[in-house]
Amino acid sequence: SLADIVAPVAVGLAMVGPPGLACVTGLPDETFMHEGQITKRPIRALTLSALAPRPQEVLWDIGAGSGSIAVEWCLAGGRAIAVEVRADRAAMARANASALGVSHLLNVVEGEASAVLSGLPAPDAVFIGGGANTLLLEQLWSILAASTRLVANSVTLETDALLTLWHGQKGGELLRIELASAAPLGAMRGWRPSRPIMQWSVTR
Ligand code: SAH
Repeated sequence: SLADIVAPVAVGLAMVGPPGLACVTGLPDETFMHEGQITKRPIRALTLSALAPRPQEVLWDIGAGSGSIAVEWCLAGGRAIAVEVRADRAAMARANASALGVSHLLNVVEGEASAVLSGLPAPDAVFIGGGANTLLLEQLWSILAASTRLVANSVTLETDALLTLWHGQKGGELLRIELASAAPLGAMRGWRPSRPIMQWSVTR
């Protein structure tokens, strides 16, 4: 159960996870309470790698869902603000932060991203896992300080188009992630493909 996995302790300045909790990002999906929409482990690992957390840095996790990205950022030594419009998911992000011992590092803000962002402390990195649109990107571009890192994941054609356009205008790196995992196929096994993810990483 979750309770067996989690009971982190503070050792000096470093957060150290309990035995069994890996010290690199990309924890098993089961580590988090979620309802299926969670950013899956391999994608989460690639996303955290692109976000590149350093100790004490601040992340905005926009469209935080279960909070898995923000929680892993905190486990890596940072602090995070998770923005989530749905009350049930915001509650889940808070519960995950508590269960994994980072609730003092993670502030979950419930609301529409566009309405709450301008009041938040400035971030070192921003992740968009939900709610990406032209207005949000324009808003971020105007409020983020130079050198802020921005990573956005897309799983829809519409958001792919948005990220393709912004990559053309602002540069950065576009990554297409196509994964498959083995699953039963009759008496044998076959590759079950996941939806392709497009990931845009850019420095403001
Ligand atoms: N990275 C998350 C999954 C995100 S799913 C995880 O690992 O759990 C996308 C989330 O974005 C959903 O929970 C959705 O409610 C939220 N969302 C969509 N548009 C939003 C907006 N404009 N402001 C805040 N949250 C938003």
